Amino acid sequence: MIHRHPVADVRPCAVGDGAPCDFAPLGRFTDKSGKVGEVSVVRCKRCGIGVSMPPLADVAFLYEGRESQDFQPDARGLAHGIKDIAFRRQARTLLRQLGAVPRQVLDFGCGSGQFTRCLGEMLPGSTVTGADFHDAPPAELAGRRYFPIGEARDHAGEFDLVSAFHVLEHDDDPQALLGRIAALAERGGTIVLEAPNIDCIWTRLLGKAWDAWYLPFHRTHFSRPALRALVERAGLTIERDLDICVPTMGRSLANAFGRPNSLPFLLAGIVLHPLQWLGERLSGRPSAIRIIARKN
Ligand SMILES: [Zn+2]
Repeated sequence: MIHRHPVADVRPCAVGDGAPCDFAPLGRFTDKSGKVGEVSVVRCKRCGIGVSMPPLADVAFLYEGRESQDFQPDARGLAHGIKDIAFRRQARTLLRQLGAVPRQVLDFGCGSGQFTRCLGEMLPGSTVTGADFHDAPPAELAGRRYFPIGEARDHAGEFDLVSAFHVLEHDDDPQALLGRIAALAERGGTIVLEAPNIDCIWTRLLGKAWDAWYLPFHRTHFSRPALRALVERAGLTIERDLDICVPTMGRSLANAFGRPNSLPFLLAGIVLHPLQWLGERLSGRPSAIRIIARKN
């Protein structure tokens, strides 16, 4: 036995007859948190899902102080303005994909809250709420709607749209997490999930340097079959399954040079984005997968 994982070792594989995944090691990765030490990934030979090792039953300690890049604490001034433009574009794309205007929106795992705020500004007749680990809202959501995910039980069934962008990969037990996310949506409501794609062109070309491995913060690394199986096992109906190009080139470069959130790399990422998009389109291997699902 090359590893022990309390969740991954017993969860049925997305491919095959319900037996657990058949894992092989991908080797050691860089610990971006400096809090865990030796980190590695094992990957299923059948469904392609990747699982970060060692197991971490509770990941809240990784996010204390909002130090991770998920919260992007250093973005100010021009960099903040550029990100606002990008987030407004993402919000427009999301609303187009949904095809209907949601009334009660929850952005689960809102991080810095900048996307949540931009989405709220584009939905003046709706309420948009953020939720994340911390008791207090992030600065972007000061004076706006927010609750800590520890209080999620109090909000069951409240929302006709629950988004969870780049959230599922942050937990050792994404099936249980998706269950808690889905519980927040009303019956007939929409749940939008997005996660990095382990089969993207960049894992092939860049290997372990790909930004979205992001250990130990990313606990699960989804292939499309693995993500679809997770959604279907949650009892949700998949309505759309979309390729998403997450603009990660600037951040990958900035990380490589040890300068997260610095403006020159952000601008380089914008310049390189069309190339990134083209590479993903031509290869058919997107950097992320978005699933729009209905709660029955
Ligand atoms: Zn598997």
